Amino acid sequence: MQYLPVCLKLQDTPVVLIGGGTVATRKARLLLRAGANVTVVAPRISAELEQLLADHGGVWQQAPYQETDLHGKKLAVAATPDRAINEQIYEHAMALSLLVNVVDAPELCSFIFPSIIDRDPLLIAITSSGKSPVLARILRRKIEAIVPAAYGRLAEFAGRFRQLVKERIPQDTPRRLFWEQALDGTLAEQVLAGRERQAETQLRERLQQLSSELSAEKGALHGGEVYLIGAGPGDPDLMTFKAARLLQSADVVLYDRLVSPVIVDMARRDAQRIYVGKKRADHAVAQTDINQLLLELAQQGKRVVRLKGGDPFIFGRGGEEIELLAKHRIPFQVVPGITAANGAACYAGIPLTHRDYAQSVRFVAGYLKGDKVEHDWSTFQSTTETLVFYMGLLGLPLICEQLQAHGRAPDTPVALVERGTLLEQRVLLGTLATMVDVVQREQPTAPTLIIVGDVVRLHEDLAWFGEA
Ligand code: SAH
Repeated sequence: MQYLPVCLKLQDTPVVLIGGGTVATRKARLLLRAGANVTVVAPRISAELEQLLADHGGVWQQAPYQETDLHGKKLAVAATPDRAINEQIYEHAMALSLLVNVVDAPELCSFIFPSIIDRDPLLIAITSSGKSPVLARILRRKIEAIVPAAYGRLAEFAGRFRQLVKERIPQDTPRRLFWEQALDGTLAEQVLAGRERQAETQLRERLQQLSSELSAEKGALHGGEVYLIGAGPGDPDLMTFKAARLLQSADVVLYDRLVSPVIVDMARRDAQRIYVGKKRADHAVAQTDINQLLLELAQQGKRVVRLKGGDPFIFGRGGEEIELLAKHRIPFQVVPGITAANGAACYAGIPLTHRDYAQSVRFVAGYLKGDKVEHDWSTFQSTTETLVFYMGLLGLPLICEQLQAHGRAPDTPVALVERGTLLEQRVLLGTLATMVDVVQREQPTAPTLIIVGDVVRLHEDLAWFGEA
């Protein structure tokens, strides 16, 4: 992160703005809205700025800039058209330890102004860290469209009862659940529709009911629950809405190696994160311990998310993890994800089935048990079936050998998709006869997926974004 977004409290804070043109006027409006004591220093200012200052009790100091203008101020904004003066202001402000922003010169700024969606007191700030203000504005337009204008009122309403709710429900988790239900349900709808009195009655009744339940020790508002979530093959955009929503409700997140850090970051900031990653022969946490941990966390009343790469029920041992939960009658949900075969094949431009080439597709475990891949190889002969091997990198020589030994032609096309759907995705192409050499030469790193069958030929025409 190049910048840390923070919210400045500027009420009654002395602030100096140097410049009087349209940009300065825009900045003045923002500073005044935040309640700052604004002094504008400029020989001339726009009529609009003059009016703004008059309306909000700001001061216009009609003179060219001098260093003493910064004295006694906490923050300075330079919006003059003169680069040399702007640079001076920056130097002076830094020497005085003032926060300083020189408009349109990120290198002369100790802070920058984000794009703001204003639902006061609810504020959403967006910045591209100075890289692309237009992109930030486009995003802002999108968010403007989905955040109801009355959200500010809702935040105000919640703020009014924050203390009361805290007193009545002192425990963190039930209190958060209370607010989640209140702010995302009928009560919120009442506020948004302008019926605040009804909303208040509803809130007080609910609060009464809950605090008596809690004090009678009838247990937490919610028992624990486990969500077994498929996070997709890597690209965070391939998560489902449901996955994203439940992930954001989690108290604890257990994740493994295949889950992108960006996805883990989507959890609430205060959610506990536990890495239970697995690599071949290097199990960070043994499967039985993971099962046990899920159970214990849920029994503590937590909302537990178990994030898995791809789909939880495809080579994900998802079945084992919920077995124990089911036995202990812990409520759970399983959220499907896009499995690696789907993700990697689509991103590589290899349709897994095709009218002309393949009428079926088979997902196969390619790992070695002892020294053998345990399959009945005689069932892999069909030339109209696409085979997708998961966990097959180490077993590749054996897979190629066995398929040929059981009748698949040596020139059957093979693709190996390395780190599918991620930016670093690579597609290596070969045949059953050549693939081992290709891999030897290219040294791909896990995770990789192996696709065998005539559909691989389509890659050339359908992969429209270039691999090396
Ligand atoms: N449940 C997962 C699979 C877990 S098994 C799913 O549905 O996708 C782990 C194997 O999945 C890896 O060995 C690899 O073969 C495959 N895999 C997972 N993510 C992948 C990716 N981004 N690119 C290529 N293969 C991937």
